[in-house]
Amino acid sequence: MNLIKKDFIFQNVNKLKGVGSQLSKYLKKKRIEKVKDIILNLPFSETDRSKIFKLNELEIGKIQTIQVKVKKLNFPRVRNLPNKIICEDENGQIEIVYFNSREGYLRKIFPLNEWVIISGKVNFFKNKYQITNPDYVANAENKDYVVKNIPKYRLTKGLNEKKYRSISEQVINNLPKIDDWLDEDFIEKNKLQNWNKAIIKLHSSEDSKKNDSKSLRRLAFDEICANFITLSKNRKIVKRRKKCKSFEEKISNGIVSNLKFKLTNDQIKALNEINSDLKDNRRMFRIIQGDVGSGKTIVSLLSLANVIESKYQCALMGPTEILAQQHFKLASEIFSKSKVRIEILTGKVEPYKKKEILKKIKEGKIDLLIGTHALFQKKIEFKKLGYVVIDEQHKFGVKQRTDFANKGGKDCDVLLMSATPIPRTMMMSHYGDMDVSKISEKPSIRKRILTLSKPEKKIDELWNFLSRQINDGNQIFWVCPLIEDSKFLDFTSAKKKFDLIKKKFPDKVGLVHGSLNKDEKAKVLNDFLEKKISILVSTTVIEVGIDFPNANIIIIENANKFGLAQLHQLRGRVGRGSKQATCILLFKESLSKNSIKRIKILKESDDGFFIAEEDLKLRGFGDLTGYQQSGNKTFKFADPLLHNDLFELAENYIFKNEKNINHSKFTFLLKLFDKAEIINVSET
Ligand code: ADP
Ligand code: MG
Repeated sequence: MNLIKKDFIFQNVNKLKGVGSQLSKYLKKKRIEKVKDIILNLPFSETDRSKIFKLNELEIGKIQTIQVKVKKLNFPRVRNLPNKIICEDENGQIEIVYFNSREGYLRKIFPLNEWVIISGKVNFFKNKYQITNPDYVANAENKDYVVKNIPKYRLTKGLNEKKYRSISEQVINNLPKIDDWLDEDFIEKNKLQNWNKAIIKLHSSEDSKKNDSKSLRRLAFDEICANFITLSKNRKIVKRRKKCKSFEEKISNGIVSNLKFKLTNDQIKALNEINSDLKDNRRMFRIIQGDVGSGKTIVSLLSLANVIESKYQCALMGPTEILAQQHFKLASEIFSKSKVRIEILTGKVEPYKKKEILKKIKEGKIDLLIGTHALFQKKIEFKKLGYVVIDEQHKFGVKQRTDFANKGGKDCDVLLMSATPIPRTMMMSHYGDMDVSKISEKPSIRKRILTLSKPEKKIDELWNFLSRQINDGNQIFWVCPLIEDSKFLDFTSAKKKFDLIKKKFPDKVGLVHGSLNKDEKAKVLNDFLEKKISILVSTTVIEVGIDFPNANIIIIENANKFGLAQLHQLRGRVGRGSKQATCILLFKESLSKNSIKRIKILKESDDGFFIAEEDLKLRGFGDLTGYQQSGNKTFKFADPLLHNDLFELAENYIFKNEKNINHSKFTFLLKLFDKAEIINVSET
């Protein structure tokens, strides 16, 4: 088979010899669809089949290779009995056992009185050595194919090692020679590897297992670059020319002078950055990063005021209905002295009312439209939309973000708000296409949240404390165990806890969990907001963005199951008002070293950015499960901690070198990592 053509590797796997529709299906389950996916599917280990053992050297349970003479083939005529082939060498005998194998096939690979090489797992049964369904049987000519270290890939049903190997070797042995897009000096200097060499090594040596091998570093660097190039290209596309907004901050200054608080320095800085973007002749594509409670909303509202002053319409979107309501309430308050026309459009709005709102928007009679993210799925016609603010809770992908920008029209500026501080390396890979404003400083009236830890068996010590808090009119979040990945178990345990707490505090407890429908959930949350109940028991699925200024206690059960950043996020649900807030971490059993470190960091710091960095360090090399959980898994090969230097290198190489980058040179790379399409889509 001739694989010389480069494009071949972007074709479907069924172009390979021996890959039919059934096998394609199995491969697809492993996310292997194109030939290039085989290149990127690295072995996780290798099996040592390199030594031929004598039959008196066998070890039960081990994978071993033997060279034996076929003595007898035994095909019982009774159903369900296995076929057996008796083989021997000068030191002993062994039975090779097959279930469900055809006689003709076995006669072919086990010619009587000839020597064969067999490799497989050694068993011992009824006083005899056996190998059942060996991985390899080969004649002497093919010895070299079997007797060596053989890479081990993750396989699935319908796919055995031999089969997969025949496929992967077809690809790897015929790898097209790529014009490397990195030059030799660069490769040498940064401890990387030539692309072709890297791929071959990763598939044929232990290189894939070693995070610091030059070959894996090369693939990691490629992966990071593909990601950064996409973002950099996307940035160029989004930041097109637009009409400048012009305003004198009249409305916003009026609002500021009426605020009960002074803006923090970080808030002022973020606002200035946004304002200068709005006035600029390039479209704004900016994200405000700041912990929960850092005061992002007011910053966005002030910037909205400026755009409204410059005679454009605006949209503000929140992740949930209840958050949209909250934004609407706040906006109505702060704009009450101005003539700004505000409306809210959510699923709840009556059809006739909705029609009216849509009409007004089209006629330019609404200045600020507030709603959920669903606003953008609908075809709403604005007369003159100039600014979209998205309060995000879940992360949007590059494509979604670009869609927001594109749907808004060419004069539409875009601002995102994110309450999940992430490590710097991740920041670049998630938001490299955007400008970033950071709010690290908390409003000064805010007292530090007191963070305590307690073993769960001492839970009874809490009741008195809680009843005093309730008497003082305070409110409590009770976050229930995260039990592995089971929504159902999380629910049952929350339900149990709810019943227990209800016995202690009848009529004062509410329960929210993932299986409630929107309305049921909103009702409980509203009861809590309106202080009809004092304790809100929840699983971890409920949103973090809602402002409950009166809640000042949070109890987190099974706290050792959460990552540091997650704990910090949860803790951020309290401490938004002026009261002293307390976070109590309950632990099931004795604490691991890491758990102790986590508590220590949480007690010492409330800076989300610092905590995100520490979190990354605590995870240790290669262990990024927490990131996977939070949907942050952007990379298959690059490890934000271990390959930190590569992230920096790529940052310089791509972002700081943006003007000189010749994108066409990277077409292959982008296709390799499935990025090409993302860019094409956003260009249209
Ligand atoms: P988030 O960044 O999580 O969206 P919010 O904007 O909801 O935070 O702000 C949380 C609370 O802090 C709100 O009640 C808001 O009024 C208040 N707040 C915002 N900025 C300040 C400030 N500079 N000083 C005091 N309180 C502030
Ligand atoms: Mg918010």
